[in-house]
Amino acid sequence: MHRPHFPDLRLLLQRWRAEHALVVDEASASNLQRLRWLGPLLAVLNALHIVVFLVLALRSPAGDVAYRWKLGLLLVHTGMVLGVVCCTWAAYHLRHGHRSLAGRSMGLVAAGFILVCAIAVVSVDQWITPNITPFLIACLGVSLAMYLRPVPAAWLYVGVYLVFYQAIGWTQHAPELLLSNRLNGITACVMGWALSVLLWRKFTTISLQQTQLAKAHAELQSKQKELERLTRQDGLTGLFNRNTFVELSRSELKRAQRQGSTTTILLLDLDHFKRVNDTWGHPAGDAVLRHVATLASTTVRSTDLVGRLGGEEFIVLLPNTSAEAGRKLAEKLRLRLEGAPAPWEKAAIAVTASFGLASTTAEEKRDFETLYTEADKALYLAKQRGRNRVV
Ligand code: GH3
Ligand code: MG
Ligand code: MG
Repeated sequence: MHRPHFPDLRLLLQRWRAEHALVVDEASASNLQRLRWLGPLLAVLNALHIVVFLVLALRSPAGDVAYRWKLGLLLVHTGMVLGVVCCTWAAYHLRHGHRSLAGRSMGLVAAGFILVCAIAVVSVDQWITPNITPFLIACLGVSLAMYLRPVPAAWLYVGVYLVFYQAIGWTQHAPELLLSNRLNGITACVMGWALSVLLWRKFTTISLQQTQLAKAHAELQSKQKELERLTRQDGLTGLFNRNTFVELSRSELKRAQRQGSTTTILLLDLDHFKRVNDTWGHPAGDAVLRHVATLASTTVRSTDLVGRLGGEEFIVLLPNTSAEAGRKLAEKLRLRLEGAPAPWEKAAIAVTASFGLASTTAEEKRDFETLYTEADKALYLAKQRGRNRVV
């Protein structure tokens, strides 16, 4: 025999409860936000009622049923204005307080207040009409306007119905009309609650989806940044890769030409690096390359560009630097390299490098390719003349 689906329902309710806990703050914030503009609107509508009933009450002879009715509605609407103003004031006051108990309860309190006022209105109405439309409108309106969690909303409607049941009995004395209204009251409350649950579920689903979407978007952005970094940087050393370096150098040279400053580039090639690989292995060679990259980056200024052209060849662009200043810097780097062997496991691997320099003043207007070719020639000379030197 097929067993009933109670466990499924229990699981569903559990999932709902967990989801609702995630969105309750957002719902409170939305309720407060809505109260801030719905409150004044309601107050104005009520004020209109007050004016109309005041004029009507003043005109009608005191003592009859119609007079009692107008006066009753005048009082109810006056009370309603005061309550609505208080709720609006509280909603403004709790601007950042949607996480507090008061902020979280505001939606329920405001809904309860409006419903009680609607009960007062229809109870007064019973003197002249059996109509309870204002109560039905209030049930639907409140559920539309405020996001209420299903369980508190159910309790709210139960409480409100008990008040309705009692209050309408005070003014409606025709048994059939009273019964009909009490039954219709049940329908109004159930419809109000059902609408409230539907809207609450929709709100929950949408907010959770938005949260997930925002999370996915953030992840995507960080991945995109990482990808961008990978396409710009050399994977082994973290320096600019060849393409990025060339691109940045071109714009730097243009800027230097506009500003009339001298630019120097410095090409660095490790000496007999193949031997390092052959003697210590490739991982050791990689460690040496990283060591050289760190040394080069920490020797130059932060405005200088350092890149790895590939293999054991590095390049540095020195903006605003004369050939002589560039030569001094290259010499400094050469000495630092010579004096600081790369640590590898328990040993240290000594490396030296040869340097080729090229410079251009703003007037000479030499482009990157020309500078690079010149620096490469100088590097070749440095190698030829015995390595570990600057040319
Ligand atoms: P020279 O003094 O004339 O420059 O000699 P060299 O051995 O440094 O020059 P050569 O161009 O003959 O060899 C460069 C070596 O660099 C060859 C290659 O194994 C090594 N190399 C290139 N890229 C990498 C890398 O990413 N990691 C490691 N470990 N070695 C690399
Ligand atoms: Mg080399
Ligand atoms: Mg080389």
